[in-house]
Amino acid sequence: MTVLISGGGIAGLAAALTCHQIGVPVKVFESVRQLQPLGLGINLQPNAVRELFDLGLADEVPGVGIEAREWALVAPNGRDVYAEPRGRLAGYRWPQYSVHRGGLQMLLYRAVLDRLGPDAVVTGARVASYRNTPDGVVARIEARDGTAWDEPGDLLLGADGIRSAVRAQMHPDQGPPQWGGAIFWRGTSLGEPIRSGASFTLIGTMDHRFIHYPISEADPDTGLQVQNWIAEITYPEDERAARVADIEADWNQQVPIEKFVHLFEPWRFDWLDVPALIRRAEVVYEYPCVDRDPVDRWVDGRAALIGDAAHVMYPTGSNGASQAIVDARVLGAKFLAHGVGPEALAEYQAQLLEPLSSLVLRNRGAGPIAILGLVEERCGGEFDDIDEVLAPAEVDAFMAGYKQAAGFAVDTLNAADPIIAPGASVT
Ligand SMILES: Cc1cc2nc3c(=O)[nH]c(=O)nc-3n(C[C@H](O)[C@H](O)[C@H](O)COP(=O)(O)OP(=O)(O)OC[C@H]3O[C@@H](n4cnc5c(N)ncnc54)[C@H](O)[C@@H]3O)c2cc1C
Repeated sequence: MTVLISGGGIAGLAAALTCHQIGVPVKVFESVRQLQPLGLGINLQPNAVRELFDLGLADEVPGVGIEAREWALVAPNGRDVYAEPRGRLAGYRWPQYSVHRGGLQMLLYRAVLDRLGPDAVVTGARVASYRNTPDGVVARIEARDGTAWDEPGDLLLGADGIRSAVRAQMHPDQGPPQWGGAIFWRGTSLGEPIRSGASFTLIGTMDHRFIHYPISEADPDTGLQVQNWIAEITYPEDERAARVADIEADWNQQVPIEKFVHLFEPWRFDWLDVPALIRRAEVVYEYPCVDRDPVDRWVDGRAALIGDAAHVMYPTGSNGASQAIVDARVLGAKFLAHGVGPEALAEYQAQLLEPLSSLVLRNRGAGPIAILGLVEERCGGEFDDIDEVLAPAEVDAFMAGYKQAAGFAVDTLNAADPIIAPGASVT
């Protein structure tokens, strides 16, 4: 019995650790030659942190980030639109962390190698295709050294991200990722703590915004933190076509700061100088904000999609990586309940496909940030007292609805049994 996993990202590695925890042998195939700590900041919501803790990683996770304390929306005039506590300050039994994505991936990778052994992850080996057989699945592996072979297994998990080969075979007519006109410029800079010192702060409007959160504690000597930021513009329909060629050429390219910093020049507040922070970044990446239309199935016989391969979404709710971890845990629970076979995959799909497809569309519609759209509609973004624009109860209800949809409503999560009971095993 072996579960093959295509992709050694957060989804694939969380699935490998989960399978190992419950006694299911796995083998991960990762297309890059060497995993490296790439990427910038991401937030891990308490539902995902709970699962990482249940995987025995409670001591390691704090080392790759900072415990988040606040989530805030701020208008371009510098005034708060909305702010709420996060993580344990909001009553969760588990923290929320703002982490370095690459740091988290390497933490999971080290855990896989320590627990499963050095042969558990085959790097430089791409899953090109698969075929179901009467009693298993065969993955076609293409290695970077030019060799290729058929790898038999019981199941195949496509954890191979937004450009998943497994999904492309399952959905040959899906077309390219969808771009809604937004471009991100992303970087990290050293900066002095703002607000709570561990706040996710989004400044701006629906079409023009700056997101800021620290991913390290302040250095005791300098007082500075590593601060992750995303500067974002959504271009109007008639300007998009001119930018498509640029986007298609390279999906994650380094660009000079001068390309975009002028768009944020007026945003100098006494608590944060946005253009100065941007200018302190050593490297800036340009990235189109893309997702994919939901599909009607994630499972084809003995192959299933998890993580971004299943449901890549706009990062408006900060929950793509968190959901990738939860996917892995739900699959593990289905293996325990239904055995390591197609029935477990079908049950996994039955539980998650519909709510996650709705979440993809909800995040395309700005997710929790949609509150800013209400402010623009009602007062054009100009206000003295936000309570005259948005009733606090209205915003609280909106945020509660989002968290319920995204799987991290505080009362539901706190009351829920573990997805995988301690000590559970398929044997
Ligand atoms: C700007 C931005 C901000 C974000 N912020 C957050 C956040 O705050 N919180 C959050 O939870 N999420 C966030 N996300 C989303 C998060 O980064 C992704 O959801 C998450 O990384 C997906 O993990 P994955 O393992 O599914 O896919 P990936 O990370 O894409 O990993 C896929 C892996 O598969 C490998 N691979 C690809 N093809 C093959 C193949 N054919 N065979 C073998 N290997 C293959 C790749 O090399 C890669 O290692 C953000 C995303 C963006 C773009």
